[in-house]
Amino acid sequence: MGLLIYLNGRLVPEEEAKISVFDHGLLYGDGVFEGIRLYSGRVFRLTQHLQRLYESAASIRLRVPLTPAQFEQAILDTVRANQLQDGYIRPVVTRGPGDLGLDPAKCGNPTVFIIASRIQLYPEAWYEQGLKIQTVSTRKNAVDSLNPRLKSLNYLNNILAKLEANEAGAAEALMLNHAGQVAECSADNIFIVRARSVLTPPVWVGALGGITRQVVLELAARAGFTAAETILTQHDLYTADEVFMTGTAAEIVPVVNVDGRPIGQGKPGPITMQLRQAFRELTTQEGTPVYTQQADE
Ligand code: PMP
Repeated sequence: MGLLIYLNGRLVPEEEAKISVFDHGLLYGDGVFEGIRLYSGRVFRLTQHLQRLYESAASIRLRVPLTPAQFEQAILDTVRANQLQDGYIRPVVTRGPGDLGLDPAKCGNPTVFIIASRIQLYPEAWYEQGLKIQTVSTRKNAVDSLNPRLKSLNYLNNILAKLEANEAGAAEALMLNHAGQVAECSADNIFIVRARSVLTPPVWVGALGGITRQVVLELAARAGFTAAETILTQHDLYTADEVFMTGTAAEIVPVVNVDGRPIGQGKPGPITMQLRQAFRELTTQEGTPVYTQQADE
C-alpha cells in the first residue's frame, strides 16, 4: 500500500504528492528539512526537531506557513494516516515555486511536505562489529559560507564526502573543517571516548547540532562520565579508546577503524555499548504519543 503524504495542508496518496519543477527547493536547494524517529507510537524529541527546523528556516529567512503547534499536529496526523508504530519522518519546507531567477522574494508560497514512512534499519552487524570510516578531502562548508548548523536542502557538501567514502570502501566520511579540525561525518556527528570522558566537537567548528548528539551528551553526564565539547583532530581519533557516531537513523554506532587504523581494541567499546543501551531505553520511555489511547497516557 502506498503512503499518504502531507503536502501543503492535505494528505494525498504518494502518486499525487508532486511539486512544481519551478520549486526553488529543487532548482537551488533553497529550503530546510528534518529527520525524526518514531518509536512504538511515540515521536522522539519532536519539540527539539521542530525547534531546529524553525531555526534553520529563520536562518535563511524562510517563512514557515504553519505555527510550531500546527506543524506538530501535521506530523502526528501524517503518522496516524499511515498507521505507523515505528518509522522515520521527513518534514521539508522549501521556498516554493518561483521563476528561474534565484531571488527568494519572487517565491510567495513556501512548499511544506511531510513523509512518514517505515525505516530501513541498519544491519545489526554494524552495531556488533563496528564500522570503518575514512577522512575525505572534501572539507566541511565553512561556518561563514553555509553554516553546517543550518539543516538546509543544500547537502552537496555532504554528498561529495559520501562519494569519497564509498570509493574508499568506508561506511562514513569523516569531514574536517578548513583548519583541519574534526567536524562531523556526512550524515552523523562524531564522538570519542578517552578515559572516562565522552567528547565531541563544538558545533562552531562546522557541525550540525545533532539531536542524538545532545541526547548522548545528556546520557553520558547522567552515567557519570565527563561529557564535553572540545576541539578534536585526527590524532585524537586515532589514539582514542573508542569512537562512535550519532544520528537519528543510525542512533549510536561504534567505529572500529579510522583511516585504516584500528581504534582501541579494534572492536566496539564498552562505553559506546553502555550509551547505546541507555539510548535504546530512553526511546522506549519518552516521546510525543501519536495515538492517544496509549496505555500509560
Ligand atoms: N550531521 C549531519 C550532517 C546530519 O545530516 C545529521 C542528521 N542525519 C546529523 C549530523 C545527526 O543529527 P541528528 O542526531 O539530529 O539526526
